[in-house]
Order: sequence, then structure tokens, then C-alpha cells
Amino acid sequence: MISIAKPIIGEEERQAVLDVLDSGMIASGTVTNKFEEEFASYIGVKFGVATNNGTTALETALRALGAGVGVKVLTTPFSFIASTNAIVYAGATPVFADIDEKSFNISAESIEAKLQEDSDIRILLIVHLFGQPCDMDAIMLLVKKYDLLLLEDCAQAHGAEWGGQKIGSFGNAAAFSFYPTKNMTTSEGGMVLTNDENTARRCRMLVNHGMEKRYYHDSIGYNYRMTNISAAIGRFQLKKLDEWNHKRRGNAAFYAGALAKAQGVLLPECLPKAHHVYHQYTVKVPGNKRDELIRCLEENQIGYGVFYPLSIPEQRCYDGQFSDVRVPVTDTIKQEVLSIPVHPSLTPQDVSTVADVIYAFGGVLL
Ligand SMILES: *Cc1c(COP(=O)(O)O)cnc(C)c1O
Repeated sequence: MISIAKPIIGEEERQAVLDVLDSGMIASGTVTNKFEEEFASYIGVKFGVATNNGTTALETALRALGAGVGVKVLTTPFSFIASTNAIVYAGATPVFADIDEKSFNISAESIEAKLQEDSDIRILLIVHLFGQPCDMDAIMLLVKKYDLLLLEDCAQAHGAEWGGQKIGSFGNAAAFSFYPTKNMTTSEGGMVLTNDENTARRCRMLVNHGMEKRYYHDSIGYNYRMTNISAAIGRFQLKKLDEWNHKRRGNAAFYAGALAKAQGVLLPECLPKAHHVYHQYTVKVPGNKRDELIRCLEENQIGYGVFYPLSIPEQRCYDGQFSDVRVPVTDTIKQEVLSIPVHPSLTPQDVSTVADVIYAFGGVLL
């Protein structure tokens, strides 16, 4: 079986976890602080506040930026549900723009259309989906023009860049996830990054029961802390991130070559200034043929993913609250996307097998 995702845990991570266990300091502590510094410095941002997962990182960042009851947050309908749930947890109101059919990311034109419709929108939450940066030139122009606060969901984009600048350093804050399927892991884990000292301080308080001085609680916070155990794993994963992303990009380049002439699938397209880190390699299978290709992959023991089969606003958990949302591009794309294995544990033989199976599938369609 060729899997769709597989975390790589090395001997250094094992030893680092054992060291933390032996130290007795197994909750949040100095290892967590080291990881915060190292990850923030890797992205090129001043402050890092580690959390227990990516969802709480998003919620913490949103609250620190002032999201709450009556605040409208504009976001993408095509993402993992956490990016919208975090807005809901904060008590704010999600508003949805549509996506760009080539990058699968929130579209700048659609953002501007929404901003002109609704002048109450204060915060923009973008998601760099599948490892591909959003069009940051267009988005930063809109952020200035409409005086927005920008939060980047970088849960799938560790190490991605736009014009040579790391994703996660553009907004007022950024949130990362270190879930095992992401480009690097801490088991569960997350982090908020920001260049603003005040925002960092608010995040720090939010994740630790609103407390700066021990047992003096200035605001109602949460326990969203990352443990030393998780951070110990993260510190060594970070050292390998660039090498792993390089492998992901190499696998993607192989598919781009091997499948350039394949029938029945459209390959992912990369914006010229984007350094894509291929959290997923996502092709489009138009013409209602996705299920056929899925059956073909299953027969050949190849893992795959449909990220995502539904738009966020139509998810049942929202109980029709967003039933008036119109996102036609997302509604088409959700029926066509199919992600194939691209992670760094794949052997050259694996990647070649996947390409052969997809190429042969196209031949059958002819
Ligand atoms: C994984 C993910 C999250 C949430 O991260 P968790 O660590 O699983 O809570 C948020 N947004 C996106 C886009 C993700 O892929």
C-alpha cells in the first residue's frame, strides 16, 4: 500500500522525547520556549506562541486580533473546517469569498467583491491550501486598501514562500498546525506567529488562563499550551523541514513531467512567485470521472484523499446558517479534486507507480 501521508520520526526525536521524560518537566516549559524561538526565527517573525493544536492556534490568533461577537471575518469556503470553526469559537461571524479555480486558494477578486458588499468586514483569514501560497501581492493591496487585519492559516504551508518571503510573515498573525500529516509534526501541536509585541502578549495570556503573574488572572483564558514533549519532537522536525519539502517538490516535479500528457487529469498550477511546498499534490478530474480514478487507485493499493468533498458553508454542523452563501467555483472544484501521495517517505518506485496508474487510467478514457 502506498499511503497518502506518513510522518517521519527519527532517532533524534525519540531521544529528545526520552530526555524530556527523564527531566520530569513534561508539561509546557523551556523546551516549548526554545521551539517557539526557533520556529519563529525560521519563518522570519519576532514572536512565537506554541499551542496544543492548529485549531487553538487559529482561535487564539483571532481572539488576539479582536475577533468576537459582532466582528465579521472574511474567509475561504474551501479548507479544512477548523479555519471556519475557529471564527465560530471566537464568537465572530464568518463571511465567505470564493476561490480561484487554478490555485484552489481564496480569490482576490472575490475578496474585493465581498468587501464592497459589506463594509463591516474587519479581519481577513486566508488559508494557503495544499502548500501553495495565496496571491500575496493582490491580497496585501486589498489589506491596505480596506484597512483589514490579516491572519494567515499556514497549517499546510510550513516553509512555503511568496517572492522569496516565508508564508506566515505577511499577516498581523499566522497560525500553524503540527498534526502528524502536515509537512512537520509535534504529534498534536500548533503555533501563533506575529511581529507585534502586543498581539504576542495577548496570545501568551490566552493560552495560559489569562495569566502573566502566577495565579493572577487578568482575563479569561484557556489551557492551550504545548508540552515540552511535543516541542522536543518539533525542534528536530524543524531541522529536517527544508529537506522534506525539497523531496515533496521533487516528487511533484516528477508527476508534472510524467503526467504532462496524461488524459483525464489536470495537474496543479503554480503561480510564478509561489514556492509551493506540496502538502498535497492535488489534481482535478473533470467530467464526473473522479470516482472511476479512485476505484483504479484502490485496485492498485494507492492511497488518495478528497480534500474536500463539501464546501465549509454547506457542512451539516452549521445547520443551514450559511445556506444563502454562493460559491460556484468551490462547488465545481469540490467535485473534481483528488490528492495523490507526494510526501517525503515515498520511494522513487512509489512515485513512478502512482504516475503509471494515473497515466494508464487516462488511456482507458480515450
Ligand atoms: C490541519 C489544519 C488545521 C487544524 O490543525 P489541527 O492541528 O488539526 O487542529 C487548520 N487549518 C487547516 C487548513 C488545516 O489543514
